[in-house]
Amino acid sequence: MASDTFPVEVGLMFEGERIRRNDMQLELGGPKADAKWEIVRVRPAGDVVDGEIRVLGPDLDALAPGMSHPVGVLVEISGEKLEEDIEGVLERRIHEFLNYVEGFVHLNQRHEIWMRLSRRSFEKGLNSFRYLGQVLIRLFRDDLPIIEAMQVTWISDPDTVREMLDEAVSRYETRDARARGLLDEDVDTFYGCALCQSFAPTHVCVITPQRYANCGAISWFDGRAAAGIDPKGPIFGIAKGACLNEKTGEYEGINEIARKRSMGEVERVSLYSAFEFPHTSCGCFEGIAFYIPEVDGIAVVHRGFRGPAVNGIPFSTMADSTAGGRQVSGFHGISIEYMRSSRFLQADGGYGRVVWMPGEVLERVREYIPDGLADRIATEKDALSVGELKAFLEKTGHPVTGRWKPDSGREQDKDRKQEKTVLRLSELPIRAGGITLVLKNARITAERVIIERRPDDPRRRT
Ligand code: SF4
Repeated sequence: MASDTFPVEVGLMFEGERIRRNDMQLELGGPKADAKWEIVRVRPAGDVVDGEIRVLGPDLDALAPGMSHPVGVLVEISGEKLEEDIEGVLERRIHEFLNYVEGFVHLNQRHEIWMRLSRRSFEKGLNSFRYLGQVLIRLFRDDLPIIEAMQVTWISDPDTVREMLDEAVSRYETRDARARGLLDEDVDTFYGCALCQSFAPTHVCVITPQRYANCGAISWFDGRAAAGIDPKGPIFGIAKGACLNEKTGEYEGINEIARKRSMGEVERVSLYSAFEFPHTSCGCFEGIAFYIPEVDGIAVVHRGFRGPAVNGIPFSTMADSTAGGRQVSGFHGISIEYMRSSRFLQADGGYGRVVWMPGEVLERVREYIPDGLADRIATEKDALSVGELKAFLEKTGHPVTGRWKPDSGREQDKDRKQEKTVLRLSELPIRAGGITLVLKNARITAERVIIERRPDDPRRRT
């Protein structure tokens, strides 16, 4: 897109850009906005006015600076060869394309989107949603010729955003439900997605019928549809090859692709485990499954959870330790839909090993938790510290207590008093001065660990 017809530059070089709170004009969506969503819908040909951009509510130059605002993005497309199956995948391209805009950052997906506009780009003239609509239409049409007509509606009127939220969520649920029931052994091909490599160069999502994409936005059916219409695009088929370990979900074909696409950094991937060779995590995951050594259990925290999780660390801080395309044993990016799969962490004990999660997530997945277990999993109402968690698990007779050695409690208490934490990391890439230092199977012991978000991270909550 030429700079003489557009107020700012648009191109690949702006992907991965960061905008600090102090440098932003305003935020759209994000944790401080009570409603936000984006959706792509396939419509009959006559229902889409090609090139039309509508703004329902105040435009960018009329929104209060420095604030977070509710927002909705409705992309409607038509084309003879377009099917509804493709909606989820095209929706993820909104993230990709908006990140090409100089001074504009898009994070997350669906009803968790978080966008930031820089003051500099605003002052250069990027002061209307219409420009962002133009970018979407131009890049979608260039990349996907099967789109014959496309219109974009930006919604910034808070009441309208809230009114349309339920409709969007119900559409997401319909898409997700479609993939349930199909088993990984029923198919020969899995799908890989490399859309997030601009943020996490060694990351590839492996999408299988029973392991939904980390962002929670792309099912196996979506992957199949995307690879079919755009075989050279960021979503591609992976021939499963031989199954090397049924329990951990390790496949020859996946290892091969992971090695190739990560430039040798990732050699093995276990689809159904949070340990040793976990699936890599980019930064778009909906939740994190994390290990709590004191109870030998796994907890889950999702992006929307406010405040510290049961280990005393908030989602945002743990996300920094998990993201970047790394394999961090015991910190594992996941989607909520994967929690509905019977393969969920199967190599680690499945729900029999899950000890804590926010009440909101528990209710969303309750019917997929094996009988008698859901009420033995603590939520923020039952435990907000490891000590409280341990007492809860003992009281409810959670199966994880069977893993505790008779004197392990005493030893763990002793360790806690000494404030000693041991992290086991199978790989820890350290990058500096153009050199990557990879520690394999190393054990690092520290008297104290302080994890802080970098000051220039646009997701930093200040
Ligand atoms: S999280 Fe995974 S599936 Fe989702 S866009 Fe990123 S790479 Fe693709």
